[in-house]
This record gives sequence, C-alpha cells and structure tokens, in this order.
Amino acid sequence: MELHEAQDLMRRIYLERDRRRGVERTILRTFQELAELSDAFLKGDDHSSINSELADVLAWVCSLANLLDVDLTQALTKKYGSGCSRCGHTPCECKDTP
Ligand SMILES: [Zn+2]
Repeated sequence: MELHEAQDLMRRIYLERDRRRGVERTILRTFQELAELSDAFLKGDDHSSINSELADVLAWVCSLANLLDVDLTQALTKKYGSGCSRCGHTPCECKDTP
C-alpha cells in the first residue's frame, strides 16, 4: 500500500468520525498512540505489537492530514523528496543532531 492509498483508506473509513471528534482531540489521540508505541517498545513487546502500534500512529497521522486537508505524499515529497530537509543530503550529514 502506498502512502496516498493509506491516507485515502483512513479517509474512507474514519473521515466522518474524525470530523465529529475535531482536530484538537485527534491530535490528543495521536499523542496517545505514540505513548502506546513508546510503552510497547520500552516493555520489550514482540515485533507484531510494535507493528500494530506503528500502524495506529500512521492511521492517526492520516486522520489528522485528512482533517487539515493535507496531502501527506505531497507534503513529504516537498519536505524530504530531495534528501534531508536541513542539509539536503541522503543520508543526512547534519552534525548537530543525534
Ligand atoms: Zn541533514
């Protein structure tokens, strides 16, 4: 599945529910999913659990993009399509980031 297909799938499944929830509460839900991913990683959960949590995070990011009328593929391509968004290299050659 391509990124634009994932975003469209989340639109078809959840857009009306996402609209009722609103942007602010959807942002909060996205943070909650990131916390669940962090917990799963730190607890040493198995790979399938990590996969599931990452899928949830991406699904919520897609929902946010749909609510904010952002095409994630275009946004990602614009920002990272030519390499690192700061130094422009692939791989990144920035010296001041971990
Ligand atoms: Zn860089």
